[in-house]
Amino acid sequence: MRNWFSLFSSSQEEFKVIVLGCGGGPMETNVSGYLLAKKNSNNFVALDAGSLLGGIFLAHKKKSFKDIPKNESSPYGFEGQILRDHIKGYLISHAHLDHVAGLVLNAPIDTKKPIFGISTTIDYLRDHLFNGKIWPNFGSEGVEPCINQYLYERIRLQEMVTIPDTGLSVEPFALSHPEGYPSTAFLVESSGMYIVYLGDTASDAVGSQNHLNTLWRALAPLIQQKKLRALFVECSYPEKHSTHAVEGHLDPTYLMRELHALAELVNPAHPKKGLKHLNIVITHVKDPFVKGCDTFHQIKKELEKGNDLGVSWVFARQGEKLVF
Ligand SMILES: [Zn+2]
Ligand SMILES: [Zn+2]
Repeated sequence: MRNWFSLFSSSQEEFKVIVLGCGGGPMETNVSGYLLAKKNSNNFVALDAGSLLGGIFLAHKKKSFKDIPKNESSPYGFEGQILRDHIKGYLISHAHLDHVAGLVLNAPIDTKKPIFGISTTIDYLRDHLFNGKIWPNFGSEGVEPCINQYLYERIRLQEMVTIPDTGLSVEPFALSHPEGYPSTAFLVESSGMYIVYLGDTASDAVGSQNHLNTLWRALAPLIQQKKLRALFVECSYPEKHSTHAVEGHLDPTYLMRELHALAELVNPAHPKKGLKHLNIVITHVKDPFVKGCDTFHQIKKELEKGNDLGVSWVFARQGEKLVF
């Protein structure tokens, strides 16, 4: 569906995304990380940084960076150049290890750039990762010696800020994961078009917070005006593991329930038409590593079967390039 959609809307494509990691663990080689840029730019912002260099290697092998010329005068290999020169900043949804492991491990060869996050996320990075004990302090606050390579940018909920050198702006929204643990969704804007990336999240149906409802209310007018190009959302577990969903994640039932709530806001008279053809990229699939269990295909099957809203599911794999 994505190819079909791209074919007929190529002149309107605004964003490109390189999938560095689309899993939610336990495989340490494929955890949440996406590079996002304007379609005609090679200056990316990273949406989470669980997998970085590992994903960049794979994406390079899959020719997802083929429009980026090698800098022959750089002492770094091509993958290092992508990390150092083409990632202009990081948007971190929350500080769980599967969203920041690459950031921490790759720091010794990275360059000076900002890390954007809500205050709690930045505090957790400063106090529990870049604290001189788990890893040297590559941040701009905290224990000495402070290397000052990553400039902590605390962003406030529902306030739009620009991401330098990318032509993109970002507005964060609160998510609950699980209740009380702060996670974040990032609404990214480029030339009046939008993409939204949700970090790990529970459904509003679980617990007492209505964070998704707040986000859906902000997205509804953008969808009505056909300005939202894609929605990245987690679906960590298939149905049969759904007890885990209440621990701060979504499964196909909870995801469809939330999409129905969004569709009602977009088109109250005909909710079933509200999200038709909206690109929904599934992220953060957790692999239980149980014999004979292919979670990715199981979730795909369940979402395709339950798709009574006519959304365009995108089941991207690590290393792939997407355009929206
Ligand atoms: Zn996660
Ligand atoms: Zn998490």
